[in-house]
Amino acid sequence: MTDKYDKQTRSRMMAAVRSRGNRSTEIQMAKLLRQNGLCGWRRHYPVPGTPDFCWPMFKVALFVDGCFWHGCPRCRRAPLSRQGFWDRKVAENHRRDRRVDRTLRRLGWSVLRVWECRLAAQATLARIRRVVCAQCGYRNRRNHKLGMSSRDDASGSDVDQVNAL
Ligand SMILES: [Zn+2]
Repeated sequence: MTDKYDKQTRSRMMAAVRSRGNRSTEIQMAKLLRQNGLCGWRRHYPVPGTPDFCWPMFKVALFVDGCFWHGCPRCRRAPLSRQGFWDRKVAENHRRDRRVDRTLRRLGWSVLRVWECRLAAQATLARIRRVVCAQCGYRNRRNHKLGMSSRDDASGSDVDQVNAL
């Protein structure tokens, strides 16, 4: 069976799986989303970077980045040994994150990244809600327009005016 992803995408996806942080962080995020009335998301949807959460309908991807592995500026602490190794590792993750962001944005996705340590902050949830709702509203408007134009083709302009009311 052939892989439906190209080699580069597959290796990015695998790397994301490997570097995925604490499961409990994701469970906590899921709980917070529900508590804040955000639903309709999917976990680990197969798009580049395999976002921790995403709303495929609205093309919104949400990553919860582990502070240590992704180099959170607030929580940055120097490990006691193998400093060079960890620095390289964090730099590598950082580069990959940026690459995933660019790829997704090019495909029309909105990308949200949340630091593990800021998961429960009100500002974090507000930001997620803002982006999801913006996409949701945009999509509804667009569907509406698309619906009207198809009716337009089929039955002429006066029907269209009735539909517009
Ligand atoms: Zn942090």
